[in-house]
Amino acid sequence: MQKETVIIIGSGPAGLTSALYTARANLNPLVISGNQLGGQISITSEVENYPGFPEGTTGPELVDMMQKQAERFGARLLIDEVTEVNFGDGPPFYLKTHGDEFEAETVIITVGASPKRLEIPGEEELIGRGVSFCATCDGFFFREKDVLVVGGGDSALEEALFLTKFADRVRIVHRRDELRAGEALKRRATSHEKIEFVWDTVLEKIGGNGKVETVVARNVKTGATEELKTDGVFIFIGHYPNSSLFEGQLEMDERKYLVTDDNMMTSIPGVFAAGEIQDPVWRQIATSVGQGCAAAIASERWLESQE
Ligand code: NAP
Repeated sequence: MQKETVIIIGSGPAGLTSALYTARANLNPLVISGNQLGGQISITSEVENYPGFPEGTTGPELVDMMQKQAERFGARLLIDEVTEVNFGDGPPFYLKTHGDEFEAETVIITVGASPKRLEIPGEEELIGRGVSFCATCDGFFFREKDVLVVGGGDSALEEALFLTKFADRVRIVHRRDELRAGEALKRRATSHEKIEFVWDTVLEKIGGNGKVETVVARNVKTGATEELKTDGVFIFIGHYPNSSLFEGQLEMDERKYLVTDDNMMTSIPGVFAAGEIQDPVWRQIATSVGQGCAAAIASERWLESQE
């Protein structure tokens, strides 16, 4: 059993910021990365709204810089995944990963959220064969191809714009006739020559022989269905919190987001949470960073109060 003072579960902007602050407080934090180092931003193409980067940056660059900054002050990064927690009557709190067992005086949970699925036939089977949840990862494979993007929020528009670098034609399929996305992205997407909109439409099926070839699309107003030919379907319809590990141990809201108080503390004193695992509302890199910072300072104060 490895003994730690602070364990941070997750390595996205919230986790790496908690790592930076707890490291600078001499708490020698251990960050357990999860299966995606950097979390969701590591697969985000362009980041234009994180302060301090007037020309914008990319998700992977930002993660890299955040990681280096935390490590410079002594944060340690373990590439592994937490498979089990027992917060019981802690502290100490117990955690297991694939490779090790740990106990910690305090824990900061920053495990974020995952992309929602459409849950239609063909989607699961064709992931990696034309169905994608990550334009940065897969956009390159769609050079001079036709792609559909599903969703009407900021993610859908941002990723659709990124896909125009490769694809010849990008059709955004949205279930309403009004976009949820903010004005800046809306302006850029609606005026882009490669982007078209398919309004009031949902996908009912994704088809193809070993790779995406067609979708069945239904107009929700008229009920009419039609088959559209395409090479790829990129799905950006929101996220769900990665909270199943904490089921039965920590209080969650009806959507399974962890409930935290004003000090970022969960229902168990000494266990804190930050970023999208506890935030269904703001969900920005900047807000996750702020929450990660607050959770780190709160955990430091909590440790002091225990002495
Ligand atoms: P979102 O804002 O929740 O948008 C999800 C979109 O998917 C909505 O347009 C929604 O339609 C649609 N949708 C949901 N379920 C669907 C289903 N089953 N079938 C078809 N369509 C469905 O999610 P997001 O775009 O991932 O953004 C999440 C948060 O991150 C937001 O707060 C956003 O502002 C932020 N974000 C910001 C930036 C940026 O500022 N650059 C970039 C990315 C994300 P309805 O509109 O009809 O509900």
